[in-house]
Amino acid sequence: MSKNWRPATQLVHGGTLRSQYGETSEAIYLTQGFVYETAEAAEARFKGESDGFIYARYGSPTNDMFEKRMCMLEGAEDARATASGMAAVAAAILCQLKAGDHIVAARALFGSCRWVVETLAPKYGIECTLVDGRFLENWEKAIQKNTKVFFLESPTNPTLEVVDIAGVAKLANQIGAKVVVDNVFATPLFQKPLELGAHIVVYSATKHIDGQGRCLGGVVLSDSEWIKEHLQDYFRHTGPAMSPFNAWTLLKGIETLPLRVKQQTENASKIADFLAEQKQVARVIYPGRADHPQADIIARQMSGGSTLVCLELKGGKQAAFALQNALEVVKISNNLGDAKSLITHPATTTHKNLSDEARAELGISAGTLRLSAGIEDTQDLLEDFARALQQVPA
Ligand SMILES: *Cc1c(COP(=O)(O)O)cnc(C)c1O
Repeated sequence: MSKNWRPATQLVHGGTLRSQYGETSEAIYLTQGFVYETAEAAEARFKGESDGFIYARYGSPTNDMFEKRMCMLEGAEDARATASGMAAVAAAILCQLKAGDHIVAARALFGSCRWVVETLAPKYGIECTLVDGRFLENWEKAIQKNTKVFFLESPTNPTLEVVDIAGVAKLANQIGAKVVVDNVFATPLFQKPLELGAHIVVYSATKHIDGQGRCLGGVVLSDSEWIKEHLQDYFRHTGPAMSPFNAWTLLKGIETLPLRVKQQTENASKIADFLAEQKQVARVIYPGRADHPQADIIARQMSGGSTLVCLELKGGKQAAFALQNALEVVKISNNLGDAKSLITHPATTTHKNLSDEARAELGISAGTLRLSAGIEDTQDLLEDFARALQQVPA
C-alpha cells in the first residue's frame, strides 16, 4: 500500500485485507479464536515465530484493518483499537506508569479523562499535577524528578483553548517523559501530534471517526517500540479490545471522514461568525477566527478550524436554556462530531461534577454553550439560530 497517498485515499483504501472472495467492502470477522493447520503451527504462532491471529482479545482481522488505516492517517507505526475512547485514554496512561511516578496534565480535560489522572491514578500511587495548559511555563514549573507523562487535549472541551504541543514535547524530551495527546477535538485531519513531537495519540473514535452516532470506539497510536514495551501486554491481559463489529462500523465511517469534517467545519465557521454579531452573545470562541486568544499557536499547529463552537450568552442559564429549547434543526445532546448538529450546556451536563471554582477556571459560565456542527445545509442551520435567538432576551 502506498505511503504517499493523501488522506482521502488512505481513508478509503488503507489497511484493507481481502478474503479469497475479493469483497469490495471490508469483511466483518466476528470470531473469538482462530484455528491452526497443525500443532506445530500453533506453537510457532504462540512463540511469535509466525504472523497471524491468536485470540480476538489480542487482535483480529477487522480490527487490524481499522488500526492500519488509522496508522496511515496519523503517520504512526502501530496502534491498538479499544472498546471506547476512555479505554484508550486509560490504557495509554496507565500501561506506562507505576507507583511513585508523576503525571503533569492540563486541567482542561474531557471529564472522564480528568477523573483518570486526578482520582484513579493517585489510588495506585501515581501522583498528578493539573496545570493551566495554555502557558508553557506552567508545564515547566510542574516538572518533578519522577515526572513520566504529560497529558493534554487541544483544543479543549468545551472552551476550545489550545496547548502548544511542540512546546510541551520539547520539555518532555528534556526529561525523558512521554507526551500523550487526546486529539479528538482537532480530528486526525487538522492536527498531527506525532509530527509536532508528541509520543502517543489517543482518540475517541466514537466522535468524528464514526461520525454518525452508532457505536463507541477508541484507538491508541504510537511507535512500535512503545506499543511493544508498554501497551501490548497491558492490552492483552486487561482486555479493552474493540468489538470487530464496531471496528467494521468505524472503517465504514472513516471512509467519509474528510467529507464530513469539511462540511462540519464550514458550518461551524459560518455559525461562529454569525453568532459573534448577535446582541445576545457575549463572546464566541472558535479556533478558525482571528479573535481566538491563541490564534498564533493555532496557525502553527492546526491546518483547519474546528467542527465545534463555544459561545457565551449574556443572559446566563436562562438564555442558554431558552436558545437550546428554541432550536429545531440543532438537537440537544452532549455527544459531538456527529452528522447531526448538537448543542449542550456544559455547566449542567458534561461539567456539572466540577466545583463552581473549577468551572470558572476553565471559563465555563452559566451562559456557556458548546455546539458541535453537523453536516446539514449551512443555511438551514443559520436560519435555525436566527429564529431561536428571537426567543432569547438580549
Ligand atoms: C468523548 C471523548 C472521550 C471519551 O470517549 P468515549 O468514546 O466516550 O469513551 C475522551 N476524550 C475526549 C476529548 C472526548 O471528546
